[in-house]
Amino acid sequence: MIDIHTHILPGLDDGAASFDDTLNMARAAVSEGITTIIATPHHANGTYTNTAIDVAKHTLSINEQLIAAGVPIAIHTGQEIRVHDDLLDAWYRKELLPLAGSSYVLIEMPSSRIPKAMIELVHELNVLKLKPIIAHPERNAEVVKHPDRLAELIEAGAFAQVTTHSLLGGFGKRIEQSAWSLLKAGHIHFVSSDAHHIERRGFRLGEAYASIERRMGEQWVTYLQSNAQSVLDDKPIHNQPITIVSSDGVLRRFISYFYKK
Ligand code: FE
Repeated sequence: MIDIHTHILPGLDDGAASFDDTLNMARAAVSEGITTIIATPHHANGTYTNTAIDVAKHTLSINEQLIAAGVPIAIHTGQEIRVHDDLLDAWYRKELLPLAGSSYVLIEMPSSRIPKAMIELVHELNVLKLKPIIAHPERNAEVVKHPDRLAELIEAGAFAQVTTHSLLGGFGKRIEQSAWSLLKAGHIHFVSSDAHHIERRGFRLGEAYASIERRMGEQWVTYLQSNAQSVLDDKPIHNQPITIVSSDGVLRRFISYFYKK
């Protein structure tokens, strides 16, 4: 499995605090079947600044240390970039990193609202041939109330990533419901852990995919996992499964029955 959003680099943000934390997270990821991780330390969120060059240096060093420790996992560069006024200029100054050297960038909105100029930002990024992935929209208060506003951003050219812990109830019932309803509505393109620490917030990626398979069918797991691979390969996002999913799964089984005939 591929995890496109993690805070595994030590000492850069509120994720891994030390190399021991990083090592524990990397070993936990391997034991869950994760082979590839994109490190996405917070950047420009008002608390943490982790520019491209710093992230690249740390990623190189951590990969060397993980090889030395015999942990079979590959870490790629990335950032979780907070939406801010200077974002496009920062891109031109080469302070920002896409995910794993692709054209996908992970961007984070404030948790309370969708920034006013968000649609324009999505357009501007598209003009630069960048594909913005909105991190955990299910945790954004405005999206929870008005999911159609996320749909507008997707229509404008954005993609969206849901967090494993949201799907599995780790952030409470409301966020859990929001996560599943966005996923079932087809507004989600990626699942990832946003892992910060093995005990406080681990990966749970396999668990989340298993839950998606139970509730929505394995074609959705294939779709989401293929999209994560597309980020690494810098390929387009795949077409969504055509299966219709009802809240209790009844309609899905009905439709699948006819598709199988
Ligand atoms: Fe994050």
